[in-house]
Amino acid sequence: MASPPASSHHLDIRLGDGLYTALQERCQRTGESASHVIREALAAALDLEHHTIYQVSTSGALVQGVYGGCVRVGDLLQHGDFGLGTFEGLDGEGILLDGCCWQACSDGKVRQAPADALAPFWVATRFQADHRETLSQVSSWADLTGRLDGLRDSSNLFVAIRLRGVFDRIRYRVACKAEPGVDLVSATNAQATFDLEQVAGTLVGFWTPSYARTINVPGYHLHLLSDDHRHAGHVLELQSRKLSLELQRESQLQLVLPETLEFLRADLSSDPAAALAKAEGDHK
Ligand SMILES: [Zn+2]
Repeated sequence: MASPPASSHHLDIRLGDGLYTALQERCQRTGESASHVIREALAAALDLEHHTIYQVSTSGALVQGVYGGCVRVGDLLQHGDFGLGTFEGLDGEGILLDGCCWQACSDGKVRQAPADALAPFWVATRFQADHRETLSQVSSWADLTGRLDGLRDSSNLFVAIRLRGVFDRIRYRVACKAEPGVDLVSATNAQATFDLEQVAGTLVGFWTPSYARTINVPGYHLHLLSDDHRHAGHVLELQSRKLSLELQRESQLQLVLPETLEFLRADLSSDPAAALAKAEGDHK
């Protein structure tokens, strides 16, 4: 097992029988780890900002090939325990789950991202579900996203999405490292695609309103991390008999723009929607 990230802290706490039993029952019922439940409760008690997306750079910049890293993984972890992104040079796919940042590499391997790894684009939040339910017999990506659409009462707020379960089938891709300035559509033409069966894991991601398409990937964007941390990537297609779903509505957005020369000089005036659909979608 990889060691925890440099910015994580270990806490020993004593709990009475009542609290301990309640914690165990909650973990058994929801499948959450005890650490996750305690972090959520502590963040709520300390009034940390929830319902806030912390984002680095924009989808428009990514489409234009602005892949230079501008924020350290260690710094990202200060702003969220959940999210997704990519690494300097579009070097694979990033997954932030339960405060650990993972890098899916294009050779199919997964490693814990070092605290000093740089990211050119990232979306993070402190995940605290405000809606939970079970989805059964999910037959495809289109089926899943259709059902998630039905759960949304507005198309104007962002939503963080966490799905846990066993995927009978799942297809995902991992971006391959690209030269700066190679646009995202060309870069993801060279992506590695993986098909797996019977994978237990978590999907981490967001739904972004269409009006925000120059900032984040519009619609659904989900990354997989398998429970054994051996498989991860950007999800294209899936099938599952049972998934536990958690949603968190996001009504605040903190956007951090790179001050790199690459970003300062990029032409971000065009609508990136079509390029994003091609590069990030292709959900067949
Ligand atoms: Zn992705």
